[in-house]
This record gives sequence, C-alpha cells and structure tokens, in this order.
Amino acid sequence: MRKKAVGLLGAAKGRAKPVAFAEDTCVPPENLADFIAEFRTLLDGKALNYGMFGHVDAGVLHVRPALDLCDPKQEALMHQVSDEVVKLVAKYGGLMWGEHGKGFRSEYGPEFFGDELFNELRRVKAAFDPLNKMNPGKICTPLDSQAELVKVSDTKRGFYDRQIDVKVRDSFKQAMECNGNGLCFNYDTSSPMCPSMKVTADRRLSPKGRAGLVREWLRQLTEQGIDILDLESNTYQQGATVQTLLNRVRNSINKSKEYDFSHEVYEAMNGCLACKACASQCPIKVDVPSFRARFLNLYYSRYQRPVKDYLVANIEVMLPLMATAPKVVNAALNQDWIQKLTASTVGYVDAPLMSVPSLNRVYHIFRCLICKSWLFFLKRRKSVMYLLCKILSRATTMLKSSKTLRNLRTNLDCNLYCCHLSQTARLNILRAS
Ligand code: SF4
Repeated sequence: MRKKAVGLLGAAKGRAKPVAFAEDTCVPPENLADFIAEFRTLLDGKALNYGMFGHVDAGVLHVRPALDLCDPKQEALMHQVSDEVVKLVAKYGGLMWGEHGKGFRSEYGPEFFGDELFNELRRVKAAFDPLNKMNPGKICTPLDSQAELVKVSDTKRGFYDRQIDVKVRDSFKQAMECNGNGLCFNYDTSSPMCPSMKVTADRRLSPKGRAGLVREWLRQLTEQGIDILDLESNTYQQGATVQTLLNRVRNSINKSKEYDFSHEVYEAMNGCLACKACASQCPIKVDVPSFRARFLNLYYSRYQRPVKDYLVANIEVMLPLMATAPKVVNAALNQDWIQKLTASTVGYVDAPLMSVPSLNRVYHIFRCLICKSWLFFLKRRKSVMYLLCKILSRATTMLKSSKTLRNLRTNLDCNLYCCHLSQTARLNILRAS
C-alpha cells in the first residue's frame, strides 16, 4: 500500500501534482488523531487536494499536497504551508522527518534539534566533510563554514519547467511528468525496468535521466525563442531537398566546433533500446521511446543520420537483390577486412549471412516436385482412381459400422474425413479391404 501510494499519487491527472514537502512528519502516536485533524483543516483551508497515508503505530504520516510548481503563486503557497506544518508538528511534540531524508527542509534543522545538538552535528560534518562536498547544505554545514543550508524557497525544478512554453509542456507530458521517484534506478535482474541503465550503471541513461535531459533541452530551445512544435510540424511537411541535405552535412561537420546541448541528449537517447519497459513499469508511466522518437526526428533534421540508419531503412529493398547471389554476398561478408570496415564505418557487427540455397530456390524445387508428382498421377490416373474409390467405399462402410466414427460422420463430410486421415490410417483401411 505504502509503495503503491507514491506511484498512484504521482500518476494524478492535471497540472497540480502531489509534492513531497510535508512528507514524513512524525508525532507521538497518542497525538496522531488530533494532529491529522488539524493537518487536514490546514490543507482544506487552502483548498488543496492531497494524498495522506502513513504508519499509524509509529505516528508517521506521509502527506503530499497537490501543487503546480510551475505556477509561482502555488510555489509561494508551498513555502507557506511548509512553515505552518513545521509549527503544527512542533505543537504536537513531533519531528518533520520521521523516516526518510530532509531534502529541501534542512533550514528547519536547528529549530528541531536545538542549538547544542545541531552544533554537534556540524562538528561531525566538519570532521568527515570539511569542504562541504557531500550533499552540501542538505543535513548541516561544517562548523565554522559560511555555507548555508538549503531552503524550501530555494530554486526548484518548477523554476526551470515554467520557462518551457505551456503548449510544449503539455505536448511532452511523458518527460514533464516524471516526478523523480527514482524507481528506474533498478538493478534487480528479474525486473524488466531499464536494461540500458542496468548495464551501464549510468543514471543519465535511466528513464529519469533521459526525461530530465529532454526537459532541459526543451527549456534551452524555448530560451532561444524556438517554437518546438512549429519546428516539428515543419520537419513533417518539408520533403528532403538538396539544400536541407547540405545544411545537415555542414552542421554535422561543425559538430565538434560548436557546443550544442542536444548532443548530450542524443548520447543518452542513443543507448535506449526502445523496449518500453519504462512505459509499463514506471508508476508515472514515463514513456521514453515516445519522446525519444520526437527528439531524434528534430535532431536529424539538423544533423546527418548515421549511414546504418539508411541501411536499416532500406533493408527490405536490398535483401531481394542480395538474395539473387547469396554465395557472392556471403563470400564478401566473410572477408575480415570487410567486417572491420563495416564495423568502423557503419557500426555493423556480426551481419547475418544469406541462406544457401535461398528460400526462393527451395520454393522452386518444391514446386517442381509437386508438378512431377501431378504428372505421375495423371499418367497413372486409372489405377490411382480405382484405388481411391476402393478406399472411399471401405471407409464409408467402416463409418457406417463404427459408433464413434458415425458420430464423427455427423460432423464431417466423409470425403473430407478420408482426405484428412493419416497415412497409417489409410494403409489400415487398404489392408482391411
Ligand atoms: S525504453 Fe529505453 S529508457 Fe525505457 S526502459 Fe527501455 S531502455 Fe530504458
């Protein structure tokens, strides 16, 4: 229930999504009922929808009010609610973080721990992480350091997401709605979730990483004043012209000279197997292949496609030609230097060999055999017809006499039945006659 709840809430429809900023509050269990009642009054008073679940025996409550963090007013409301929840938790003698980490709520640390205990924490931090490198500002800062704790009001994802045009946000929902729950960081070999992340152990190659990169790519394009949806529809309408080809080739040659963030997105997308495990296993249904296809379409409208894409796209045209001379093709594919060349230029390895004889040839041989059998039958049709008649008459007699077969006969036409008898059965009938 606890695990599923996060996914179910994350998949809520609409712009406002449950946000984990009042999550994990913990009060003595005997105060829990009153605490819940007051918590609900607080959220209802702000007309917020929310999901509430928890561990009653331990007094831990998980509350996720639904907010659209792309709306600055709702973001401000989040700070306000957060401060009020802190007061409420303190009133009931509890803690803001009863089970998991503090996240962006570290500013409340000194208030809950008290100066003395918090300074001890800072001393421990100074001993193990004097330069404040590990999770800076998240739990506490090293003693004598001027670094600040992170605050609920610090820049969050909503700040970047709101820079993307609303139409684009709605259109790229599969990337925008990723709530970062991290269930795709999954190394369980029995789970189908993201094989590319499992193999590489690179979080950029997880659905969460890919969704994040695409969001940043959309933001940067919006920042440059590019209407992505317009650009996309142009790519569908425009045919391939010599001019577009030349532009693509020129951009591809200049790739190494000009920085373009889309290359980083491309690197991440390129390793995706498009297996769609994310679309079914992720509780939010982050569907990487869908936005990957749209990204690649735009990317290849600016840069030249790799040669192997053209080979794969035209394989159905090339195969019949290759099948006309399979031995020649196989001899070429078996050459060491050709294998190395295709691997280094096209990126193909272990290209399958053509079947010899080809299926076409096998089909012709089979057809000839049928024709020969037919001619044989025509030449001897008199004797064969006689034999067939004998078989049919005997089969009919048997069908009449056998109860089981009679039942069968009601369902099957006699001749049809005879035709379907196995070779052994036919021989048996012949012997009996
Ligand atoms: S489709 Fe791509 S991102 Fe999604 S699980 Fe498969 S490999 Fe990972």
